[in-house]
Amino acid sequence: MVYVLGKNGQPLMPTDRHGKVRRLLKNNKAKVVKKCPFTIQLLYETTNYTQEINLGIDAGSKNIGISATTKDKVLFEVDVELRNDIVDKISTRQQYRRTRRSNKLRYRKPRFNNRKRPDGWLAPSVQQKVDSHLTMVAKIHKILPITNIIAEVASFDIQKIKNPDISGVEYQQGEQMDFWNVREYVLFRDNHTCQCCKGKSKDNILNVHHIKSRKTGGNAPNNLTTLCETCHTRYHQGLIELPESIKRGQRFNDATFMGIMRWAFYNKLKENYPSVSLTYGYITKNIRISNNLPKEHYIDARCISGNFAAISNREVFYYKKVRCHNRQIHKAKILKGGIKKSNQAQYKVKGFRLYDRVAYQGKQYFIFGRRTSGFFDIRTLNGTKVNKGSLSCKKIKFLETSHGYLIEKRKVTT
Ligand SMILES: [Zn+2]
Repeated sequence: MVYVLGKNGQPLMPTDRHGKVRRLLKNNKAKVVKKCPFTIQLLYETTNYTQEINLGIDAGSKNIGISATTKDKVLFEVDVELRNDIVDKISTRQQYRRTRRSNKLRYRKPRFNNRKRPDGWLAPSVQQKVDSHLTMVAKIHKILPITNIIAEVASFDIQKIKNPDISGVEYQQGEQMDFWNVREYVLFRDNHTCQCCKGKSKDNILNVHHIKSRKTGGNAPNNLTTLCETCHTRYHQGLIELPESIKRGQRFNDATFMGIMRWAFYNKLKENYPSVSLTYGYITKNIRISNNLPKEHYIDARCISGNFAAISNREVFYYKKVRCHNRQIHKAKILKGGIKKSNQAQYKVKGFRLYDRVAYQGKQYFIFGRRTSGFFDIRTLNGTKVNKGSLSCKKIKFLETSHGYLIEKRKVTT
């Protein structure tokens, strides 16, 4: 897929007619603006023809799956790996500051009155995730004319369980679908643990069991409990009895289910974009399983977008979020004679920045370390080194700056 921008930079429908793209570039009717994902900008006026594009987002704390689809085609799919080092980094910084305070250093006047948390404050690790989600959505809006955004906000719909007679278009799904919803709720309530052996059987397959039969007890959460498959089978064979302590329904508020991060993300989306709607994990799961689709973040996102039958060209982008800047000024260890060694590297070393995409022996890598001697550490996206030592920067060719995301295109089977 080649992504196309109009003369004024507005996104147009992408194309898979590579011959046409080549001709446009050759005749100077278009220019390349981005190498990965490959994006061109037309240099002449065109009509603004667009189709309806849905953007499905599977928000998560470790990965994001995103899929942009029309009714019959997958236009862009991405699996984003988020940063998980924030908590570590912040607590290391806290340690350093604590040491400095206990050391006898010269007195400095307080510089800011920054001891109050502003409204809507989130922990830095959560804020970082919300921001990464929003950046990804914004990045996609730059290359595709997205019409609707659909985000999965929780694995089940608590409103539907509280009042089963609720009506409205989004609630008409049928009895079978309702059970999937209650099922996800029960799993969450029981902390995804077997309520009989409490996880001792080491069986990862969980069933939701009817305490009284479905006919007499019904599908209400207080008639359901989580059992591992081992316990479930043994119970039905009459080999074990279930404990008395099987949990009844508990009270939660909506934010508990959605998680702070997904909640904040969804609210921001609604502020920033015109057409945003939500869906639930049990619906996604039902669609994925009944269509025999593999469990991948981008596949979930495709189901969320509402066009699960869209045909994919079997290319998925992998994005990995990396830090943009390191604010530590000095190394923590003080050298002999009280010299503090600088921790700040030059912005560019031999013309290269950290995480730049480079070419070496016909393959693409990223710069993970630079030395002023001109020897660099280049690696693939998942951190595999190219060779044991470092490599002279004269042998590598600059391709693109990363802007905080390492990007790779991968071939997949679905
Ligand atoms: Zn069990």
